[in-house]
Amino acid sequence: MSIPDQIRVLEKLAQLDAELKELQEQQAQERSTLDGLKSGIARLDEKLASDAASLATMDKARGELIQDVRNMTQQLEHSREKLGRSRTEREANAAQRELEELRKLVRDREEEIGKITADADASRQQNEATRAEHQKLVEDLAAREGAISSKLGEVTRALEAKKTERAAIAKPLPAQIYRRYEMIRSKRGTAIAKTTDGTCGACHMALPPQLFHRLRREPLLEQCPSCNRIIYFAPAVAAADAASPDRG
Ligand SMILES: [Zn+2]
Repeated sequence: MSIPDQIRVLEKLAQLDAELKELQEQQAQERSTLDGLKSGIARLDEKLASDAASLATMDKARGELIQDVRNMTQQLEHSREKLGRSRTEREANAAQRELEELRKLVRDREEEIGKITADADASRQQNEATRAEHQKLVEDLAAREGAISSKLGEVTRALEAKKTERAAIAKPLPAQIYRRYEMIRSKRGTAIAKTTDGTCGACHMALPPQLFHRLRREPLLEQCPSCNRIIYFAPAVAAADAASPDRG
C-alpha cells in the first residue's frame, strides 16, 4: 500500500473515529438521561416505603398511648370512688395522692400523643410532596422513554454501522501503522496531524527544519517530535482561503 494511500486511509479513519466519538457521547447522554429518571424514581420509591414504615410506627405508638389513657381514665374513676368511700383522713390522703399521680400520668401521655400527632401530620404532608414528585418523574419518564429509546436505538445502529465501516477501511493498512495509530489515539484522542508550513497541525509546535524538508520532498509518514502524532505533509489548500492574510 503506497504512502499516499495510507494517508488517505488514516484520514478516513480519523474522520470515522471523530464521528464514533460523537455517537458514543450521544449514546452516553441518552443513557444517562434515562438512568437519571429511573434512579430518581427508585430513590423516591425507597423514600415512600421508609416514610410509610415510620408513619406506621408512629400510628402504632399513638394507638398504644391512647389505650393507656383509656385505662388510666378507668383507674381515675376507681380512685375517685375510693376517695368518696374513704373513712379516715389517712385513706382520703392516700386516694388523693393516687388521683394526682394518675392525672399527671394522663397529662404526660396526652402531651406525647400531641407530639406524635404533630410529627405524623408533618410526615404525611412531606409524604404527599414526595408522592407528587414521584408522580411527576413517572409521567416524565412515560412521556420521554419512547423518544429516548428510539434515539438510543438509532445511535446504537449508527455506531454499529460505523464500526463495521471502520474495520473494512482499516484492514488494508499495514499492521504496524494501524497499531501506532491506535496507540497514539488512545493517549491523545486523535492520532494524525498535517503540516503545511513546518508546524504540527495538531500541537502547533515547529517541526525541526530537516524533518519538514523530508516530509515535503516525498510522501512520508513520520511522527511529530512534540506530540508523537503521525505527521505528513499536506500542501496549503487553494488560494480561495481568504482567511490567510499572506494572500490578501
Ligand atoms: Zn504535534
